[in-house]
Amino acid sequence: MEKIDWEEQWGGAKSEEVYAYTATRQYSGNVNISQEFLYLHAKKAMEDLRERILREGWKITECPGAVCALKVPGTNTIYLASSIKGPGRVPGTAGSILGIDDHVVNALRRCRIRYGGGERRHHYQGKCAEVMVTHLWFSENPTIEDLPKSGKLIVTVNRKGEVKLPCNFYWGSGCSDWGCKQFLLEVGFTDDEVTATLGPSWEPNIHGWPRSRRGRALRRVGHRGS
Ligand SMILES: [Zn+2]
Repeated sequence: MEKIDWEEQWGGAKSEEVYAYTATRQYSGNVNISQEFLYLHAKKAMEDLRERILREGWKITECPGAVCALKVPGTNTIYLASSIKGPGRVPGTAGSILGIDDHVVNALRRCRIRYGGGERRHHYQGKCAEVMVTHLWFSENPTIEDLPKSGKLIVTVNRKGEVKLPCNFYWGSGCSDWGCKQFLLEVGFTDDEVTATLGPSWEPNIHGWPRSRRGRALRRVGHRGS
């Protein structure tokens, strides 16, 4: 895969500096962008971002912790975005500095009301890669009000290139936050699209996918629907 043409989204005074990376990649019509293809793309994109950060003399901890890849039906464009680094929240100062799209901000606000209001917030302050990639899609498609209702593919990887399921409710030990799972449903993803990540038969897990060699995973796909 060629180098990713990352765009740095950056802003804020020193004490509230926030940044994230976004990119789009257009494929010709004859490329079939499957969930596996998208996952490998996200993994390569993360490797590319890590290399860039280190090449620029930054510490690895300054590299965003996740990259999310999104494909919507009807186009062969892959949208890529990192999580957001820096202080603040979305909605909040981080969101204003980065100019996060209203569709995204409003969906996060609705989640806050729907899931308890008050101190019940997005677990990672709304700064996950899923939020950023959705923002990117809305910014690149300003005349479209909603994401297509079905057929979307989305996958997130961590710095190691492992699949990271969307963050979810955190109701343990006094914590009552919600997460990207709730946000994605609110912004127009179906439950299947969110929970499938790599499809039910892929058995994705937060400790790293693929758990075994690719050959095994590919065979598992053959069982889908059976
Ligand atoms: Zn999240």
